Amino acid sequence: MTALPMNFHNLIETFPASGCVVCNLVQRDVNRFLDSHLYEYVNTPETHADIRGSRGLCATHSGHLVEFGASVLGITILHAAVMDELLKTVAEPNRAASAFGRLRGSTGSTLANRLEPTEQCMACQALERAESQHTNSIAEYINDQRMHDAYAASEGLCLPHFRQVLRAAPDTAHTDLLLKLQIPKWRDLKAELDMLAKKYDVNHADEVVGQEADSWRRALIMVSGNRDVFGVRRKT
Ligand SMILES: [Zn+2]
Ligand SMILES: [Zn+2]
Repeated sequence: MTALPMNFHNLIETFPASGCVVCNLVQRDVNRFLDSHLYEYVNTPETHADIRGSRGLCATHSGHLVEFGASVLGITILHAAVMDELLKTVAEPNRAASAFGRLRGSTGSTLANRLEPTEQCMACQALERAESQHTNSIAEYINDQRMHDAYAASEGLCLPHFRQVLRAAPDTAHTDLLLKLQIPKWRDLKAELDMLAKKYDVNHADEVVGQEADSWRRALIMVSGNRDVFGVRRKT
């Protein structure tokens, strides 16, 4: 019998929390990652190479550092390294720009290209690693009774993570199980949303609003995923 993956029990324990289990777990994983990189790994050559290459973190993860009261010293050291990298980049002779290019004003574009990140935000990389571990484990172990029951008792997965889990399913038996678990979540949520919309109708204004009262909030997460995981859909 093969050993269970490390995150198996984390998933079982986190499924009962409100929202998508993958969104919830990856946020915890990324917070731990950032914490460790601002304290014990803040002076390692790998961290410095990563932060210089990526020109700092993405805006979402930079915002997290402020919100979570991360190490000010860690942020300071890493961003001094980023500034150093930017200054080195602009100080390099612009070999790529020909005299003709300078005439046409393309030196700005060449410099802008050199200032582009050469690596992805390290927290986004950690997020994607954690996300793929969690979605793979759900897909692979959905036929384990404990995983199945935890999913069944949960609010279900957000749509982007459900797509990832479906793509990771090893065969149609696993896909069928996943669908059997997720479809009732969508059906229940739709019924709650319909009921809530009906109670906004003037003819039903005197009816008491039940647990469907916050269904609109849950629907936002279930359709779009958590903003700290999926962020702004921008093409850069
Ligand atoms: Zn999710
Ligand atoms: Zn990021």
